[in-house]
Amino acid sequence: MPIATIGIGANIGEAIATVERAIAALGELGRLTARSSLYRSAPWGKRDQPDFVNAVARIDTALAPRALLSALQAIEARLGRVAGDRWGPRAIDLDILLYDDLGFEDEALRIPHLHLFERAFVLEPLAEIDVSFEAWRDALPMGERASVERIAPAE
Ligand code: AMP
Repeated sequence: MPIATIGIGANIGEAIATVERAIAALGELGRLTARSSLYRSAPWGKRDQPDFVNAVARIDTALAPRALLSALQAIEARLGRVAGDRWGPRAIDLDILLYDDLGFEDEALRIPHLHLFERAFVLEPLAEIDVSFEAWRDALPMGERASVERIAPAE
């Protein structure tokens, strides 16, 4: 069964609860096999907006990439995402980071995700669940790594 790696982010409303709900919802698209801790990250691009809560999760899924993207967009809609401008605040954002070792690009979907290897809010949680990404994480500029911190799990 293909393995999909999903990036999750939220920065408005109850962001921690929304990210947890999104991770639970991923279980409907296949079998959830791994999930990272939650991380808090400074916003990228447009900086005058709240910090993000980020995580990464892995599922075994029978959905092909385009069907998976549609299913993620349905979860986003359910969890309260409204269309906003690029880089702006969002209730929830779900991205396909990796899909097995597939390289794919069309007008709607690019895998691996375009910014996978340059963003600490992706590589920190991803390296937590997959040691093969530690070298990518360690290669990030120090300032980029400093923009992300792990959120201590609730007692
Ligand atoms: P965003 O505003 O970050 O949610 O971007 C949404 C758009 O990015 C969607 O309409 C997708 O068609 C496109 N996109 C391209 N590649 C990906 C990917 N790997 N995962 C999710 N969305 C993608």
